Amino acid sequence: MSAPNKSYDPVEVEALKPEEVARMRDEALAAVAAAADLEALREVKTAHTGDRSPLALANREIGALPPHAKADAGKRVGQARGAVNQALKARQVELEAERDARVLVEEAVDVTLPYDRTPPGARHPLTTLAERIADVFVAMGYEVAEGPEVEAEWFNFDALNFLPDHPARTMQDTFFVAGPGGEAESGVVLRTHTSPVQARSMIDREPPVYIVCPGRVFRTDELDATHTPVFHQIELLAIDEGLTMADLKGTLDHMVQALFGEGLRTRLRPSYFPFTEPSAEMDMECFVCHGESVGDPDRPCRTCSSEGWIELGGCGMVNPRVLTACGIDPEKYSGFAFGFGIERMLMFRHNVEDMRDMVEGDVRFALPFGMEI
Ligand SMILES: [Zn+2]
Repeated sequence: MSAPNKSYDPVEVEALKPEEVARMRDEALAAVAAAADLEALREVKTAHTGDRSPLALANREIGALPPHAKADAGKRVGQARGAVNQALKARQVELEAERDARVLVEEAVDVTLPYDRTPPGARHPLTTLAERIADVFVAMGYEVAEGPEVEAEWFNFDALNFLPDHPARTMQDTFFVAGPGGEAESGVVLRTHTSPVQARSMIDREPPVYIVCPGRVFRTDELDATHTPVFHQIELLAIDEGLTMADLKGTLDHMVQALFGEGLRTRLRPSYFPFTEPSAEMDMECFVCHGESVGDPDRPCRTCSSEGWIELGGCGMVNPRVLTACGIDPEKYSGFAFGFGIERMLMFRHNVEDMRDMVEGDVRFALPFGMEI
């Protein structure tokens, strides 16, 4: 900035000469007009109206002019700056409108396109049925318990009173897991039933114990219409003082009625399992024909094969040897257990004829079962 000087002539100050101011203004206007987008316009604004712009610098020179020259130069520079600011504003409005129009085109959504090309999945009916069964017991105060699928042989067999020479303990029935060195005698198996969860639960908990254990189990069966090497069981166990077969029967009656309808009866037939004594096979009254198809060739029932009863699973009073193995005093406590296959129940409950449909994972099998909450 030049120092005040009486003889200062604005014409002599290069930056304030009319043609120079006009040049700066025209340059700024040309830059504004050439700004292609809002980002470029911001740069033009800084370059031509900012503190270091030629017109701002020229404006500062005015202060140094003698009073008589100030008005003229001030008017000249002021008009030039006004014209530039106006042009900037106008260009800003133009560019914003262009941007908005472009966004409308570029970000348009075609609402007529299909929105559901990813087909919805479905929960597997085995899962929903297992949850539904477990819920019946949870409502009675049972707790859901889970255990490992790769299990110690001791939990899978020994704790449950399977003697060392029991046929279930052979390679024909059980998947044995090789140890780290590849040796077959690792003592580890893929659990063949959910019963080891019972043994674990009895060891973990102090009686009374009321648990329901749904889970996946493994046996060396070939996959066909009625067998699968991987299937699901659900098992319940109650240990308390003074439990009897009557408690077991009442619990089974309640379960069957909760799952299949009011008034259905159950019956027990003597049987044998290593871990229960006495043991029984449990049948439920056919929920389709209620036994009315028996002996009536005109009304055959596919669900029970016209026998009136459907075999559901095995049950009994927990063998005192199992209680002892799991650290529970059989003199003080007694208990009952019951277990069955979920696949089988799904088959007769929903007329599924081929077990392979359940394991193939085709969503078209699962979808018709819908949602169960
Ligand atoms: Zn029937």
